[in-house]
Amino acid sequence: MRIVWPLAVAFFFSFTRTLAQQATTAPPSSLLLRPAAVFDGETMHAGWVVLVEGSTIKAAGPADQISTPAGARTVELPGQTLLPGLIEGHSHLLLHPYNETTWNDQVLLESQALRVARATAHARATLLAGYTTARDLGTEGADYADVGLKQAIDQGLIPGPRLLVATRALVATGSYGPKLSVDVDVPQGAQEADGVDGIVRAVREQIGRGADVIKVYADYRWGKGEPSRPTFSQDELTLIVQTAKGAGRPVVAHASTPEGMRRATLAGVETIEHGDGGTLEVFRLMKQRGVALCPTVAAGDAISQYQGWKKGQGPEPERMQQKRLSVQAARKAGVALAVGGDVGVFRHGDNSREAELLVQEYGFSPLEVVQAQTSGNARIFHLLDRGRIQPGLLADLVAVEGDPTQQITALRQVKLVVKGGVVYRE
Ligand SMILES: [Zn+2]
Repeated sequence: MRIVWPLAVAFFFSFTRTLAQQATTAPPSSLLLRPAAVFDGETMHAGWVVLVEGSTIKAAGPADQISTPAGARTVELPGQTLLPGLIEGHSHLLLHPYNETTWNDQVLLESQALRVARATAHARATLLAGYTTARDLGTEGADYADVGLKQAIDQGLIPGPRLLVATRALVATGSYGPKLSVDVDVPQGAQEADGVDGIVRAVREQIGRGADVIKVYADYRWGKGEPSRPTFSQDELTLIVQTAKGAGRPVVAHASTPEGMRRATLAGVETIEHGDGGTLEVFRLMKQRGVALCPTVAAGDAISQYQGWKKGQGPEPERMQQKRLSVQAARKAGVALAVGGDVGVFRHGDNSREAELLVQEYGFSPLEVVQAQTSGNARIFHLLDRGRIQPGLLADLVAVEGDPTQQITALRQVKLVVKGGVVYRE
């Protein structure tokens, strides 16, 4: 196609301008944030201010003890609490709510291009909801698309949280889905691997292609309508953890049966996702081995409603009652709480639903949950450069109206989002 030259030039400049607008603008040299109070990841401090310089926190403390450098931009945040950027512990940016499209249809019928395009919108919604980091636990049939998504965010092409990605996740052959007729091989929502050679190769493949964490399904329903049962053997799980740990990657396990949880714990995984059928005995073992539980209460709540439960009217499904018992047992055993909702099952941007349910229906205090979702998740996920407001840490910050350590719903009242010193929402 012939393009008239001046038009081509104009097109080029408008294109670069658009990119510049989308890309993160250069961080201001300094930013002084003046909220009503600062939650530093552990406790509240009324009257504190936070000074950001470049991409990190320069100072935090009482307003009269922090001098404002010349040229600093001051942001007044009256009535607001400034806290560390929230950390989503369990997301699937490449999934969208199952009441829009079933999981099977997302895996089988949606192109990877469509799924990635959606995921860019999901990443933006996550960041603007105050989540500056997310541990994304599996692409569910979208191969290594999470690695590219993470690169696009890191390069400033699209707004989104800092990501820890699990890529394809590992399942024992025959245990996962989708399952159609026995006569047809259909693409699976995770990578099948078995035995010594198969497992070592699969873990190395995923790490080589960009996995930050390895996710394994320690149990699953082998057939439609069946309860979950263990999948990998103890030896296989142990080998997965050894192979991943040798490469500096932690392993997380999907597990909801006591036996699946027990094997995963003994293998040395760092977190167990869901844990619905967990017993006091297995939670005591987790506590002893330093394994955290990410109960994903919001996912079960959403799925039960998709299946017809009229929340607040109909009787609570058995699945929900069981979940409450397992979370109680985990608390009794003193297991550390990782906060993550399995968001993707429900709407991205609605991440704080998990924190709300933990307070409103599972008996945690707002303070416990806000601590867990900031400094707690950072500790469990080995993210020592964030999760607290302290000099030298990343300037990942969120301001909300009110005090979320008193009223958890305040987490929804997001007024300011800063990631790496760049203001994404104001
Ligand atoms: Zn999940």
